[in-house]
Amino acid sequence: LTILKIGGALLQQPEALSDCLRYFHELPGHKILVHGGGRRASQISKAMGLTPRMHEGRRLTDEVTLEVVTMVYAGLENKRTVAQLQALGCPAIGLSGADANIILSEKRRGGAVDYGYAGDVVSVQSEQLQALLSAGLVPVCCAITHDGQGQLLNTNADTIAASLAAGLAPDYEVELQYCFEQPGVMRNIKDPASLIPSLNPDSYAYFRANGVIVDGMVPKLDNAFRAVQAGAKRAVIADLAGLKSGTGTEVVD
Ligand code: ADP
Repeated sequence: LTILKIGGALLQQPEALSDCLRYFHELPGHKILVHGGGRRASQISKAMGLTPRMHEGRRLTDEVTLEVVTMVYAGLENKRTVAQLQALGCPAIGLSGADANIILSEKRRGGAVDYGYAGDVVSVQSEQLQALLSAGLVPVCCAITHDGQGQLLNTNADTIAASLAAGLAPDYEVELQYCFEQPGVMRNIKDPASLIPSLNPDSYAYFRANGVIVDGMVPKLDNAFRAVQAGAKRAVIADLAGLKSGTGTEVVD
């Protein structure tokens, strides 16, 4: 089972996105696609006269922002992706975490910052996902979850991909692929030749302490380590060319 998470920048580029979807469609075996849509949500918020507010790369999700991200992730981005996959002959089915109760989360509370309607994953109910996979369907999961009490919550897409990997690891050989616009994790972000081919918890801690790994890469790697620690066979971070050729940064426990 391959879980592919498409990065935010790729979602914004029609050609890169369609290359990525073609690659995904051609993957053998069971597969799940995960996506967010933060950049588009910010654009649409601004067009509505709202000011997107972030803290350490995470969106502060007040009530109207929750409405926008739900419309953008579970609506526009999810349905557009499903339609493009269907056009390739891929039997895609669009989901949020609320659909079939696949991902339960809880509203983040406490701490100095009020993230609003941000949801941290509590559990993955894999039975219904497995039923979809067994029926030959290809789930396309967006970054919206629910708390089981009727409240939708905004959840980081990297976290969703890792949580699905962890939830399905007891029953499948799971490979988690984070596809984004760089060749992988690099010592110098401007130099593709500085690619770090593999990271273990010690080298990750070292590069993090030295400021080599920052911003969105920190939660991405935390999630990748969590997935392999929970039994995923492999987790890799790469651009599309790297995923195709088997290069990129592999995360090893
Ligand atoms: P996504 O594209 O999946 O939405 P993010 O934008 O959250 O992901 O995180 C990926 C970003 O992490 C890259 O675009 C890059 O700017 C940043 N980053 C920080 N440190 C590194 C590093 N050492 N190597 C590669 N990317 C890094």
